[in-house]
Order: sequence, then structure tokens, then C-alpha cells
Amino acid sequence: MKDTSKHQGLRNRLVTVLIEKGITDSVVLSAIQKIPRHLFMDSSFGDFAYQDKAFPIAANQTISQPYTVAFQSELLKLKPNAKVLEIGTGSGYQTAVLLEMNVKVYSIERQQELYRKTKLFLPKLGYQPKKMIFGDGYIGLEEHAPFDGIIVTAGAPFVPKPLLSQLKIGGRLVIPVGEETQIMTLFIRKGEKEFEKQEFGDFRFVPMLKKKN
Ligand code: SAH
Repeated sequence: MKDTSKHQGLRNRLVTVLIEKGITDSVVLSAIQKIPRHLFMDSSFGDFAYQDKAFPIAANQTISQPYTVAFQSELLKLKPNAKVLEIGTGSGYQTAVLLEMNVKVYSIERQQELYRKTKLFLPKLGYQPKKMIFGDGYIGLEEHAPFDGIIVTAGAPFVPKPLLSQLKIGGRLVIPVGEETQIMTLFIRKGEKEFEKQEFGDFRFVPMLKKKN
């Protein structure tokens, strides 16, 4: 499947929808305007790729809703060249949005099938994360810490301690916390043991699972 002017038109409309829903970060919006989301999905869903909805990908997972991707990306408040850890590579769409924001991305995925597929796919579109890891996001990535931002794209039943401790001072963790539905939660590291917490309403994610699969 190719990227066409019809797709570009649909993306422009999607950006308008996201602005209406309250997204303001121009770097995030232009990433969404540029990235061919239909190529991250099964071709049978291709016609719906620019609706503001989540869709199934492989291994019973989902590609997050564009509004959710934009909301989480905006909350990270990243500066160019920042170092970001993503938990839940999935289709790689959120990874691509981060890379369009000119940051260095380390991404962890626990499903072997998705890890393999996305690791091959992203470079074909010209997206090259610093590292893609088949592993467990609950433990983070100590050897590359600390991070300016950490984004979790699966519903976490609790906040994993290693993710807090792998933030730089001033760094931000954006994580949906909860079982059935999740509350989007932002932690800003203020000091060695000091964190500011803010909550941003309900979202719905596939669950963050333990161990590799
Ligand atoms: N950002 C992705 C979202 C995928 S859904 C996208 O937009 O396509 C959430 C992803 O988190 C799934 O791919 C799932 O396999 C992965 N995941 C779940 N638990 C995990 C864990 N403990 N560590 C790393 N990834 C995990």
C-alpha cells in the first residue's frame, strides 16, 4: 500500500479533529500530519486509519487512538535531542511520532511477534530508534537511564518503581494507571526522591503484562 494525496487529505482532517479535541503542540500535530498511519495497520483497516480510533494489530494488541498518542506525546514536553523510553512499541506508530519530534527513542516490546515485525518495518519508512528491545517494560532500561521522558502505552495496574527511578531530575513519566480503565498520570521528578503527580482523566488501553511472550 502506498501513501497518496487522498491519505494526506484524510490526515489533514484528522489534525483538525485533534485540534478541536484540545491538542495544541505544533510539533506533535505536524508529526501526525506527516506519518502514514495506514501503513502501520493491517491493510483491511486501511480505509479507517485516519479515524480517531484504536484498531487491532498483531498479537491481540492495538494501535493507540491518534488523540491518545497526541495527548501523551504533548504531556512529555520534550526538547529536541531528548532521550525517551517508550514501553510498548506495538505497531511503532507512537515511536514514529516521537522520532518526528527529533528525540532519541529507546523502545521496549514484550511480544516477540510485534517486536520482530516493527523492528523491520520502521526503518523502511526512514524511522530509526536508538534501540528496540524485546523485553519487559516493568523493569525499564537501567543501562540507558536516565531519561528525559518515559511513555507507557499499555494500561499499568500500578506504577513500576524502576520507571520512576530511571527519570532524570526534571524528567517526565506519562503512564495510564488502572485495571479496567486507566487514569492518564504524569509524574515529574523534582528531586532524588521527590515526584509531582498530576492526573488527566480516563483512557482505555490494553493491559501492561508481565514478562516476555
Ligand atoms: N504504541 C503502540 C501501542 C500498542 S498497545 C501503538 O500505538 O501501536 C500496547 C503495547 O504494549 C502492546 O504492543 C503490548 O504488547 C505492549 N506491552 C504490554 N505489556 C508490556 C510490557 N510489560 N513491556 C513492554 N511492552 C508491553
